[in-house]
Amino acid sequence: MLISVLTIMPELFADLLNSPVLARAVSKGELELEIVDIRDYAPGSFRHIDDSPFGGGAGMVMRCQPVLDALRSCRARGKEVCGQEGASRRRTVIMSPAGTPYTQEKARAFSGLSHLILICGHYEGMDARIYSHADEQVSIGDYILTGGEPAARVVIDSIARLLPGSLRDASTREESFENGLLEYPQYTQPAVYEGEAVPEVLRSGNHEKIRRWRLQQSLLLTRKMRPDLFAAHVLTAEEEELLAEADREPDNTVSVE
Ligand code: SAM
Repeated sequence: MLISVLTIMPELFADLLNSPVLARAVSKGELELEIVDIRDYAPGSFRHIDDSPFGGGAGMVMRCQPVLDALRSCRARGKEVCGQEGASRRRTVIMSPAGTPYTQEKARAFSGLSHLILICGHYEGMDARIYSHADEQVSIGDYILTGGEPAARVVIDSIARLLPGSLRDASTREESFENGLLEYPQYTQPAVYEGEAVPEVLRSGNHEKIRRWRLQQSLLLTRKMRPDLFAAHVLTAEEEELLAEADREPDNTVSVE
């Protein structure tokens, strides 16, 4: 998979491969990262990439021409790398606070693409005419970043760990959000720490009991911490039974504080 990032601050990606997961995905040939400096597409010695907004107001706005020329060149290179068939699995995404909230589901969908192009805005944002050249806009949360670069890094990280062979151990399938629920609590040695013991069932060796306990804890944790996710989750018969059982036994509640 090729991920291209269009940015006016390429230096903000200089340490990207310090992440072992990303480095592994790249070394295994599962991921190629291309950081494109939008300024390289701005004419003249001033490399003019922004201008003041029509209608007045504070701040500067990124101009169409350098961004769209960078995008065209990036798409052409994507065709070379991914081939014609691969290019049909390409998506152009603008990082934007007005975008669709970024989710694990979206990360999984992006991880199946051949070429993902992430465009990072800066200043007051980009000329509105640029947006129609992208497939979608993505937001990483309801707050304003200085630029799209940290958001693009979040997206890249979340995709890289889903690529084959990038994580050393177990599957990512049991993680939070993968089944619409938060992950169950995890414990490691020692079995008792400062008087607090690991739940007995996890030391029982009974895999079926452990599976049911984990599912029950996932349900309780999601209901407590993320009522929005819980409300959207359609309970199976087993899940209903596990919740009813936990509600009958209040000692069974999750300690997340
Ligand atoms: N004036 C814009 C507004 O009020 O919506 C904010 C511009 S922001 C300072 C500059 C750039 O940062 C945006 O163009 C976008 O690329 C990026 N950005 C800011 N917040 C973001 C978020 N929550 N998710 C994704 N990108 C974001």
